[in-house]
Order: sequence, then structure tokens, then C-alpha cells
Amino acid sequence: MSDCLFCKIISGEIPSNKVYEDEICYAFYDISPMAPTHFLVIPKVHFASAAEATEENAAAIGHIYMVIAKLAKEMGFADGFRVVTNCGEIAGQTVHHIHFHVLSGKQLGSFN
Ligand code: 5GP
Ligand code: ZN
Repeated sequence: MSDCLFCKIISGEIPSNKVYEDEICYAFYDISPMAPTHFLVIPKVHFASAAEATEENAAAIGHIYMVIAKLAKEMGFADGFRVVTNCGEIAGQTVHHIHFHVLSGKQLGSFN
């Protein structure tokens, strides 16, 4: 999608600090980290949010969770981390290309 910030990060038009890349997804450090480890994992195919999950893109979402588990082991935080995907502006979503925040490295606050 030509006017999407995260599509521009995938293409390299906007620089990012890469964590991981394969044919399905791209992971990069968040520009405004909320934890000592905070990166985003995004599918290379553009869709807006978890509200647009379909049979067609479900495999990419599953693949992303597999990549997160692999990175957690390799990067040494598999003992505790949080995966968050904000869906819609009421949930705080600011970039409308689905992304999974991966947070670790400190005691994370409770949601409830
Ligand atoms: P959201 O609020 O949509 O769930 O998360 C968007 C995230 O993207 C935010 O945590 C924000 O810091 C991050 N972000 C926004 N613009 C950029 C950017 O240009 N580069 C990087 N690396 N992260 C960004
Ligand atoms: Zn996009």
C-alpha cells in the first residue's frame, strides 16, 4: 500500500533497525520503546488489523507467532514477554498495517 508507513519500512523507503526478516514477515525495533526490549513484527502483505483476519492471511499471523517464539529463544527472553496487537483507534492503534508489539526485559504491568 503506497501511503502506508510500515509498507515503506518493509520496502526500505523508510529506514528501520531490523531484528529479523523472511519472505512472510519483517521485525524491527520500535522507535519509541515501552520496555527494554520492544520490537514490532509485521506481515509483508498489507492488512489493517486483527479485525481483518481471514483464511487468506491467517497463515501469516500463525507464522509471526512462530517467529516470535524463535526470536524469544534466540534473544534470551523466552522466560517472559508480552505480545500485543492494538486493533482500531479506540485501542490505541496509530499505524493501520497490522503489527505485533513484542515487549520484554522488565516486569510488565497488569492489564486488569
Ligand atoms: P500502535 O500504536 O499502532 O499499536 O503502534 C505503532 C507503533 O509504531 C508505536 O509503538 C510507534 O512508536 C511505532 N512507530 C511509529 N512510527 C515508527 C517509525 O517510523 N519507525 C519505527 N521503528 N517505529 C515506529
Ligand atoms: Zn502497509
